[in-house]
Amino acid sequence: MASEKLTPKGMARRRLIGAAAGSAILAVTPATGGAGGVARAPGQGEESFDLLIRGGKVVDPSQNLEAVRDVAIRDGKIARLGTDIPVARARQVIDADAKMVTPGLIDLHAHVFPYVGPYGIEPDPYFLARGVTTAVDAGTSGAFTFPAFRRFVIERAATRIRALLHVVSIGMVAGSTPNMGELEDLRYCDPKLAARVAGENRDLIVGFKIRFSKQYTGANDLEGMRRARAAGDEAGLPIMIHIGGSYTPLPELLALMKKGDVVTHSFNSHPHGLLDESGALLPEVLAARDRGVWFDVGHGAGSFSFAVMERCLKQGFPPDTISSDLYSANLNGPVYDFPTTLSKFLLLGMDLSEVVRRATVNSARVFNFGAQLGTLQPGAEADVSVLELREGEFTFTDSDGKTRSGRQKLFPVVTVRGGKTFYPPAQPA
Ligand SMILES: [Zn+2]
Repeated sequence: MASEKLTPKGMARRRLIGAAAGSAILAVTPATGGAGGVARAPGQGEESFDLLIRGGKVVDPSQNLEAVRDVAIRDGKIARLGTDIPVARARQVIDADAKMVTPGLIDLHAHVFPYVGPYGIEPDPYFLARGVTTAVDAGTSGAFTFPAFRRFVIERAATRIRALLHVVSIGMVAGSTPNMGELEDLRYCDPKLAARVAGENRDLIVGFKIRFSKQYTGANDLEGMRRARAAGDEAGLPIMIHIGGSYTPLPELLALMKKGDVVTHSFNSHPHGLLDESGALLPEVLAARDRGVWFDVGHGAGSFSFAVMERCLKQGFPPDTISSDLYSANLNGPVYDFPTTLSKFLLLGMDLSEVVRRATVNSARVFNFGAQLGTLQPGAEADVSVLELREGEFTFTDSDGKTRSGRQKLFPVVTVRGGKTFYPPAQPA
């Protein structure tokens, strides 16, 4: 345990800034050697840091690390991980005592293109302020609307946003009520156009998305899958498919998926899911995982069932990645935010480090983010989540309205991205 105590003299040189939600953030006035100061300034023959996250329990599955460490940040990168890094070497200090420190959380399925269609929500208050440094927008935009998404949202957000471009060019401008599914009219599903827009925006578009539920597709889902395959192959990018109540049985859709593609809403309770009528995993699902298809959670308002998840866990089939599918209709429940989604896996019996793994290092491997994410190894992006694991009695609800009670819940405390700090909105104690 890092046990260095602040001396009274040291305390006098620090002033409290931006204290929020019970976490103290200390700005250290650079020592000058002047009146009353310790005559040792950062940078004088010693390593100095922009920010030090001190004394937290680091949970970083990329390094199999679960121990108290200080995390030092400089120039937007992780500079050092250690014990007892002197606070005087940092311009700003976050006291993470009794908190958990993880690589910045990566939410692989989110909707952050607000005001265009019914789904999108503001990225920074709902993601960055709540522990998520990278949010992948899963198909809210298509080729026709991506330029606006890029210019008016992604380029202005502090959250790192990457996009899965909807293979359907209008994206998700309509919801399911009234029923105007984006894949009902195949003229909008142009794989060449999707591949071209992806090619023109390779810095932000990391793959394609398509939704397979009858209300969005009519009878067109298999043809949509073929076109998604064509777009993916032409652009050299993976495809994420949304499942749950598809017109075509899942094995026929899976047959067109390759290594690196992603199934989201994997653990929903709708027809044509991962399980057969007896509750056993379909052989085609096991075969898809064997050839490198990822299975993601994508909780959402209608796509995560405790019962289905439990059946899959019992058969040795945990998710590869956990994601929230947070959007307008579920941010007041049952999803709320990404830390709440992660907490549901603790109550299902998954170890904390295995939960964090599925929101950090695993997620970082799924897409090419063009940056070193999901790890606190020196040299990686300085994306860090400070969370609190509270003990108590907590009720959690799945997408079917079923509740479970858990004894632990994760709460965001402060999130660091690029050396800057972001706080959650005030929460009831
Ligand atoms: Zn979604």
